[in-house]
Amino acid sequence: MQDVTSSPPVDLLRRLRARGAGDPVTHVERVPARVGVPAPWPAWAPPELPAAFARRGVVAPWQHQAEAATLAYEGGHVIVATGTASGKSLAYQLPALATLLADPRATVLYLAPTKALAADQLRAVAGLELEGVRPACYDGDTPRAEREWIRRHSRFVLTNPDMLHHGILPGHAQWSGFLRRLAYVVIDECHTYRGVFGSHVAHVLRRLRRQCARFGASPVFVLASATSGDPATAATRLTGLPVTAVTEDTSPRGGVTFALWEPPLLPPDSGSSSPVPPQPTGDHDDLRQVRRSALRETADLLADTVAEGVRTLAFVRSRKGAEVVAANARRALDDAVPGLGDRVAAYRGGYLREERRELERALLHGDLLGLASTNALELGVDLVGLDAVLICGYPGTRASLWQQAGRAGRSGQEALAVLVARDDPLDTYLVHHPEAIFGAPVEATVLDPANPYVLAPQLACAAAEAPLTPADLALFGDGAKEAVDELVATGALRQRPTGWYWRHRERPEVDLRGEGGAPVCVVESATGRLLGTVDGGSSHFLLHPGAVYLHQGVSYVVDELDLADGCALVHVEEPDWSTHARDVTDLSVMSVRSYVDAGPVGMFLGEVDVTSQVVSYQRRRIATGEVIDTRPLDLPARELRTVAVWFTLSEQSLTSAGVQPADVPGALHAAEHAAIGLLPLMATCDRWDIGGLSTAVHPDTEAPTVFVYDGHPGGAGFAERAYGTASAWLRATRDAIAECGCEAGCPSCVQSPKCGNGNNPLSKPDAIRVLDVVLRNLPS
Ligand SMILES: [Zn+2]
Ligand SMILES: [Zn+2]
Repeated sequence: MQDVTSSPPVDLLRRLRARGAGDPVTHVERVPARVGVPAPWPAWAPPELPAAFARRGVVAPWQHQAEAATLAYEGGHVIVATGTASGKSLAYQLPALATLLADPRATVLYLAPTKALAADQLRAVAGLELEGVRPACYDGDTPRAEREWIRRHSRFVLTNPDMLHHGILPGHAQWSGFLRRLAYVVIDECHTYRGVFGSHVAHVLRRLRRQCARFGASPVFVLASATSGDPATAATRLTGLPVTAVTEDTSPRGGVTFALWEPPLLPPDSGSSSPVPPQPTGDHDDLRQVRRSALRETADLLADTVAEGVRTLAFVRSRKGAEVVAANARRALDDAVPGLGDRVAAYRGGYLREERRELERALLHGDLLGLASTNALELGVDLVGLDAVLICGYPGTRASLWQQAGRAGRSGQEALAVLVARDDPLDTYLVHHPEAIFGAPVEATVLDPANPYVLAPQLACAAAEAPLTPADLALFGDGAKEAVDELVATGALRQRPTGWYWRHRERPEVDLRGEGGAPVCVVESATGRLLGTVDGGSSHFLLHPGAVYLHQGVSYVVDELDLADGCALVHVEEPDWSTHARDVTDLSVMSVRSYVDAGPVGMFLGEVDVTSQVVSYQRRRIATGEVIDTRPLDLPARELRTVAVWFTLSEQSLTSAGVQPADVPGALHAAEHAAIGLLPLMATCDRWDIGGLSTAVHPDTEAPTVFVYDGHPGGAGFAERAYGTASAWLRATRDAIAECGCEAGCPSCVQSPKCGNGNNPLSKPDAIRVLDVVLRNLPS
């Protein structure tokens, strides 16, 4: 790689890559700086508005802001989908506030995915000091005493979809004055409404539209999104309305030098003599170490950039990983200059709001120089303009990658972004195929409002708010009639001549955030202090009795997981082992939706029932990775009806391809792992959204079979996407395995960090043979 220019980030990168033996950089992409294109204030904007924005330092809008604002002001539904820090908020503030100033009765409803983001927007709108707008947050934290005042007097209410779902819509009678005059609905960060959560939010918005219509209002929807593929279609699916997209980003941006970084292979059997012990990361530690871990590499890079005084943000995928990166960087800095380690901290979603605010403030003011964060920061607010961003592991989508990298670079200044590959098939594929990152469009946001597991409970909520009429069914879209019939059959709804009525006193209990259930609180037994929360879906893995749990670098051990109360009791303890939960999975085919008969190969899409249970955990010595013991757990099994894609092969075709019968299980298992690892290349998911199962003979298919299923009830569209792109997906899978430089299989190709069988058996060469048979027969 030839560096043709010299600039601070290029020089910094040169120093970083010169540290060890060999060059870890596989590609350097230069993302050029962009000059901003300002536009005049729209003629319709009342003069107070430009004056108010000017006081906050905004002298003129950028062209995309003015374009989106004018479309919305003229009554069109619009989505502005541009990069981080491109000023999307002005695009909705302008038409919304202009309307509030022109019509003293009009109201605006603003939705953010998190309370923190709504609170920031409140500060921004309140800071404009406009007469009569009276902006206010209305969420779970709003004191009872203030709620009535807000309903009656606020004209700019900021809330979140959960509050709209649990509070505002069921209480629509009290909100009738507000809803009757509703002129705009603003949906910020709308790309976060994807998968099952997005499908729920789509119906909450339909319920909102239904209530507005009952009061005679038809508000304009203005959506803001990170850069995404085909935003108009996604916004139309989300709102059920025709939406125009504004996608050309005309804000200025500093240039970014973007490096792809592959940690070096370790010499064989170097595990025990390694100078830095493997860390309990929850990621890859159950695997034989083949490459230097991305976490250790990122921690070193973070220490190096902080030592140079470069303000750096490191994105790490797992919460444990973020803690480990921060702790290792702190240790390395303290070894160099005692006290310097204090300039680095960890940040993640489970922290309490005050802790997060304090960390953001410290980084913005330079008290902190380095922060290791989970993607919780994707939604964190003004944290942009950093000198360097380190991305530890591909974040799952190009959209997220660009959003994280977008934190680097101030206007007029060059910055550095580094993607550090994890020991994983997708990451390895990407650092050797930079065109799959830099030459491909960002993914579309996938959601499926027709998912019956979402649609039926949402229709129940709608019926509880007001009886459903035949006209309403059209609003809720495909499958609504079938879902209503089902609700009548199960006794939830009663059909009368005037419509369908909710039969119960209590409202239906529906959680928008999906099947995982409510988050589990982590509480320190001795003090009763709430340390943070873990989402319900991960709680069996992370908070089982005996689990080692890290918070801000402090180690705790779980005494008790109380599933009924949703809390885990922990005490401070730093044992010299880490813990790794194991689960067992069972799968049965319920129905086939679609299939391809390709001779000896079959490719299927259909419904399956998956039962899984966390049954035990291993304790492993931190220093050596040695297994101390395996301990049983008594946790309930969890069941999942979902959508799967699967392929079968005839035993004959495997034998002809040279796969010995004894090697079939290892061949299928290895192909399954790699296929799951590569699916995020095709769909907006990550491997943690997907599960798999492979077997030399499955009772339902009576053949050697590999299943890959959506980890969400009813499916989130991922398996369907895999089925639709099957040959491209399995081709990339085959190439990733074949191109891996390891001998017998490694985490970069066929091993999986979430394998319930301890990555046994696995056969790398036979996995290639299996996929060759599939690809040879499957029409592309
Ligand atoms: Zn490998
Ligand atoms: Zn496995």
